[in-house]
Amino acid sequence: MAVHESLHQKLSEIASNLWWSWQPEVTNIFRQIDPVEWSQLAHNPIELLEQFPPQRLEERARQLMLHSRVNWAYRRWQEYMDSTDTWGSTHAGTLGHRPAAYFSAEFGVHESMPIYSGGLGVLAGDHLKSASDLGIPLVAIGLLYGEGYFSQHIDADGWQQESYAELNAKTMPIRPALDTTGKPALISVETRSGSIFARVWRLDVGRVPLFLLDTNISENSDEDRHLTARLYGGDHRTRIRQEVLLGIGGARALNALGIRPSVIHMNEGHSAFAPLELIRNRMREDGSSFDDALRETAAMGVFTTHTPVPAGHDRFDAGLVDEHVGPLAEELGLSEQALMGLGRVDPQNPNESFCMTVLAFKLSRKANAVSSLHGVVSRRMWASLWPWQSEEEIPIGHITNGVHVPTWLAAQMRVLYDRVLPANWFLRSGEPEVWAGFEQVSPGELWETHQSLKNRLIAYARNRVAKQAERRGASPEEVERLGEVLDPRTLLVGFARRFAPYKRSNLFMRDLEVLAKLVQDTDRPIQFVFAGKAHPADDHGKSILQQIFKLSHEEPFKGRIVVLENYDINLGRHLVQGVDVWLNNPRRPLEASGTSGEKVILNGGLNCSILDGWWAEAFDGSNGFAIGTGRTHVDQEVQDERDATSLLDVLQNEVIPLYYDRDADDLPLEWIKRMKRAVRTLGWRFNADRMVMDYVSRAYIPAAGGLSCQMTERP
Ligand SMILES: *Cc1c(COP(=O)(O)O)cnc(C)c1O
Repeated sequence: MAVHESLHQKLSEIASNLWWSWQPEVTNIFRQIDPVEWSQLAHNPIELLEQFPPQRLEERARQLMLHSRVNWAYRRWQEYMDSTDTWGSTHAGTLGHRPAAYFSAEFGVHESMPIYSGGLGVLAGDHLKSASDLGIPLVAIGLLYGEGYFSQHIDADGWQQESYAELNAKTMPIRPALDTTGKPALISVETRSGSIFARVWRLDVGRVPLFLLDTNISENSDEDRHLTARLYGGDHRTRIRQEVLLGIGGARALNALGIRPSVIHMNEGHSAFAPLELIRNRMREDGSSFDDALRETAAMGVFTTHTPVPAGHDRFDAGLVDEHVGPLAEELGLSEQALMGLGRVDPQNPNESFCMTVLAFKLSRKANAVSSLHGVVSRRMWASLWPWQSEEEIPIGHITNGVHVPTWLAAQMRVLYDRVLPANWFLRSGEPEVWAGFEQVSPGELWETHQSLKNRLIAYARNRVAKQAERRGASPEEVERLGEVLDPRTLLVGFARRFAPYKRSNLFMRDLEVLAKLVQDTDRPIQFVFAGKAHPADDHGKSILQQIFKLSHEEPFKGRIVVLENYDINLGRHLVQGVDVWLNNPRRPLEASGTSGEKVILNGGLNCSILDGWWAEAFDGSNGFAIGTGRTHVDQEVQDERDATSLLDVLQNEVIPLYYDRDADDLPLEWIKRMKRAVRTLGWRFNADRMVMDYVSRAYIPAAGGLSCQMTERP
């Protein structure tokens, strides 16, 4: 790279790769250039640099003495991109020059790219970042949603309102992906109702390229131009068209780009059509039969299932399947019946609809759930696919989800880590030994750091609720009151997640009398901050949000329960870095893993959770709090009632007393012990580096080698 490059060029180059988003020092450079613009532009450095043409940027950089820091950041980035001494170079060498291809319907990499809705997308984003850090040869495929997922506002009545904004390709870090002839790639998928065309964008996430398909081009009909407008919008027909595009179109895009993957990783069943396209290629190239090509392709397939909720699996009727996959099936020599059979547990059953999860199981030799308990549930749920096997032999393993540490760890907390953990600990954060040193942190220092993060969250929340109220047309007195909500000395419980009914966001409201006592306690009060979006079509989820919103405006909960709008990665980061306690009360066993509580751990917050998902294997009695004992009841109402009682019990009898038990210096020593224990015992495990390392050794390498290790060959 030329040494003469201007500051503007260097920063523009850095902004063109989302690597910057998990480097706090680099993010800080952008923020310092103009903190107000930075926050108004949703942390988008490309838009920021548009406001600062080269001259103006030079002036600003001189004022702030930014030059050497920009040069340093630029050098760091170059070194990162060029480094060959990685975990992957020694452990994933057998993948060689043929990368793993990771398919997902959503990717949550950064708030400035709103093409995710929740945990599935954020997990995918964290997967890419860890794969990049570890140097794993991996490419990713998704869709570019032109209007993203929605922005959430809550009206004066507490009802969720959605708004969509057209994303601007010019201010996103994307560029056309070039095909093997050097032209912008254009792919198509033929259906019985005409071909769907898509261009392919490239978004760089460190060393990992993410290819995003976009149908908003003139080759398409008006209907199809809108096909990739919204994530999880539209009806069944939109859904299958999006999935055909993601799977078949995604596999075609890789082919057009000259990428021949060694592994096909399907993150959830949305992309399960992809292997069909690979089977077609194999039949064409080698003249294989369908059965042989299926066997060889399935050997490369890795499928991660995420949904223990039966309604959460995409199902399509025969008409939609034939319309969209019929032409491809003809090329494969499959009858309509045979095609439908691939998506049915019982291929012969004409009453069964076509299930994407079933297809994904049949087209992959390695399948996994996302926590140990979810593994048990999934084996039971899908046992009928392997009727000749006992439940323990069902070939669905588990790899528990983890979070990308540099993304979710607060900068102040990182300073503490840097002091007590080995040098370059973040390059080896998936190893337990690396975290042992955390015990050496002094309790006072840990508490002070936590308290300053909590203060920051409270300031942020006050600012946000006041602005929200203003927009809703609240009176000036109300806006002023909201600017003073929450108390830094009061135990702060956070709860943020999608408002899917099984997550039971309103469980804490079942006994309002007890709750009122807890929030009003003069010596040992408690306060809550809530956030979360309901799916636009989910009125039940919206009504739960409304209940909490209304409660937050009633005495005695006013100022002690706060609802923040528009949960996204940015708000998520503030919350997980600043709360004392993270509450999680799904209806067990429906939370396959959950990841937000893992982000909290890193920052010294404690989890108070139902023993479901990751927490069922993480809780050891002294690294957080458990709600209930992990029992379930056949009657949902009984289970909800019992869990609600346990929730208030554990708050009253364990969480509150421990938090307010202070020594002479006002330190809650026993609480701090739990914080340290949580970081030390859980930080390395529930970590995306560890997760990706597991995927590499337990799934990718066997799949790339064509081995069917642990998995039983199906007839
Ligand atoms: C981490 C995260 C999630 C997932 O949290 P769960 O615990 O799985 O509910 C959802 N949304 C955002 C914005 C996140 O950052």
